[in-house]
Amino acid sequence: MNIQKLECPNCHASLDNDYGNEGIFFCKYCGQKMIVEELQNAEYDLKIRKMEMDHETAKIAMEQKSQNMKYAHERENNIIQNKRNIILFLLMIGMLVIIMVFSFLMTSSYGSEHKKRVKELQKVESEVQEAIIAGNYDLAMIKVNQLRLDDGYSSSQTEAWDAKREDYIELINKKMNED
Ligand SMILES: [Zn+2]
Repeated sequence: MNIQKLECPNCHASLDNDYGNEGIFFCKYCGQKMIVEELQNAEYDLKIRKMEMDHETAKIAMEQKSQNMKYAHERENNIIQNKRNIILFLLMIGMLVIIMVFSFLMTSSYGSEHKKRVKELQKVESEVQEAIIAGNYDLAMIKVNQLRLDDGYSSSQTEAWDAKREDYIELINKKMNED
């Protein structure tokens, strides 16, 4: 075990281990300035370590910050994406409503057109009946040929009017032969 006495190299007073900063201290008795290299080195190492730790801490803080920013950015993107989806959904609903309204209007206008046409045919039919009663078979024959439902109606309706027309033609021919 190597024990060394700590004493001032100048006045040889014994020194306590009340070292100053960075291995520099002064003798309490003669004021001699002394440097302890080991302490300086230790202090230096400590400083380097502290700098390294500070650097590490700063680096972690930076990483944390950039991570937070990334999360914030992702959250923002998600919100924007959700808004887009909602807008798209509303647009689709809107388009669907427009299509439904449009097709409803088309159907109802077709419906009223259809009713109008049927009314016209019923009027012609009553004119045919009147002409037959009046014995005006030529007029009845002309009118009876107008009892025709145009294309665009269901085949059952078209066929019904065709059958009706054929019956009237037969009736008119019979009446003409009778007279
Ligand atoms: Zn001294």
